[in-house]
Amino acid sequence: MSDATYDTGDARVRVAIIGSGPAGSYTAGHLLRHSAPELHIDLFERLPTPWGLVRAGVAPDHPKIKSVDRIFERTAEHARLRYFGNVDFGEHLTLEHLRQHYNAIVYAVGTPVDRAMEIPGEDLDRSYAATDFVGWYNGHPDFRDLEFDLRGERAIVVGAGNVALDVARMLLLTRDELASTDVADHALEVLAASAIKEVLVVARRGPEQAAFTNPELLELGELSAADVVVDAAELALAGEGHDPGADATARRNAEILQEYAARPLSGKPRRIVLRFLLSPLALEGSGQVESVTLARNELYAESDGSLRARATDKRVTVAAHAVFRAIGYRGSALPGVPFDQHRSVIANEGGRVLGEEGVRPGEYVVGWAKRGPSGVIGTNKKDANETVDRLLEDLAAGRLLAPAPIGDAALEAFIRELQPAVVDYPGWARIDRHERQLGESSGRPRVKLTRIAEMLDAAKQK
Ligand code: NAP
Repeated sequence: MSDATYDTGDARVRVAIIGSGPAGSYTAGHLLRHSAPELHIDLFERLPTPWGLVRAGVAPDHPKIKSVDRIFERTAEHARLRYFGNVDFGEHLTLEHLRQHYNAIVYAVGTPVDRAMEIPGEDLDRSYAATDFVGWYNGHPDFRDLEFDLRGERAIVVGAGNVALDVARMLLLTRDELASTDVADHALEVLAASAIKEVLVVARRGPEQAAFTNPELLELGELSAADVVVDAAELALAGEGHDPGADATARRNAEILQEYAARPLSGKPRRIVLRFLLSPLALEGSGQVESVTLARNELYAESDGSLRARATDKRVTVAAHAVFRAIGYRGSALPGVPFDQHRSVIANEGGRVLGEEGVRPGEYVVGWAKRGPSGVIGTNKKDANETVDRLLEDLAAGRLLAPAPIGDAALEAFIRELQPAVVDYPGWARIDRHERQLGESSGRPRVKLTRIAEMLDAAKQK
């Protein structure tokens, strides 16, 4: 009997993956490549649309990075994988449901929450979390109704990572540059009408401790409407070239910044200014951000040799219309799943979920939910391999869960009873086709649907 028509469920090893972003998709791909035909995957996704941060996190002007979705599509089209979109773990599906029917569960839920600066004035209007801004310009349904006020001349972005650079770039791209991307329509209008002339990116440490990667830093020097400005005296203050912990990326960042510092202004109408050794102490304004007071920092060596920032008694106050904090993400606990509060990830050892009594049989975690929000998309491939290797070891050793067998159709019926509005893979393919068709007339890769109801409608259109 062929693999596709066999449906008693008797011999099936069933794996549920929660989350279809890079971590979940790489996990599925690796599992399918390295497992026997009995292993079947159900890939659950909270939104109707798959690929997590590839769709809702990667900046719209980075289409090459987004093209990894073609690899994920091939995985999702595999005969031993089913996609269940619009199914929320916690709302529709619980751990008990999964334990009832799956031999293994892999959490690939990311770290969706923004980190706070915990300083006075952080809750003023026009103080924004980068996570919200990124979700909004990428058309994520949870963020599509947010409003961003870009009617002033200066914005401050706090943080020295790639998210900070994404936010800064998106604030400075021209309408023409934005118009050829898949930026959400609602964001295109607001960004194109933005009055922001200057974006200050503020790092608390020095150039060699910045978390940017080289291509992203170089890209700033090529913006069509914005000059990049770096103060050589500030670089010197940070004592660049003296961090023993600096790797090749950090050293190259420092060189690029020196090049920027030596570059004359070319007269472009906007500027991106990269500042170092500054930490915001307070956001000020009556009801909304009007200025930010920052402390001048100095670096000191920790006992392990790493360089940290501490405030000196120097202060500077900078007028600003809006502040975006891009200082990292943290995880949030899933119902019934052990959470490491200290690291803000699902408690785990090499991808095996750890409960109070040790390893929890049949439960795994992968990606940012496992290691924290670090690395680029490809980092999740290696991470997924590690988790899958542990899962396959446990399968071989008979350490997975042992639910009663169930057939494919019966299991699908069970899921559809929990969430009748499931979007399956053909449903997603219809949404995808519809969005691409909408984009064709305006020369865009797609026009994203940003409301769940619109997505569900498009998923049903034959
Ligand atoms: P990140 O790389 O961890 O950078 C966070 C930045 O925030 C660091 O510079 C950190 O400084 C700073 N920071 C943390 N707490 C702070 C505080 N209280 N005050 C001031 N600054 C503070 O995080 P991310 O930018 O959110 O990016 C997450 C991951 O996604 C990264 O691995 C990133 O490379 C990746 N990503 C990649 C791309 C791309 O490939 N194009 C795009 C976006 C994101 P310290 O170092 O001093 O702690």
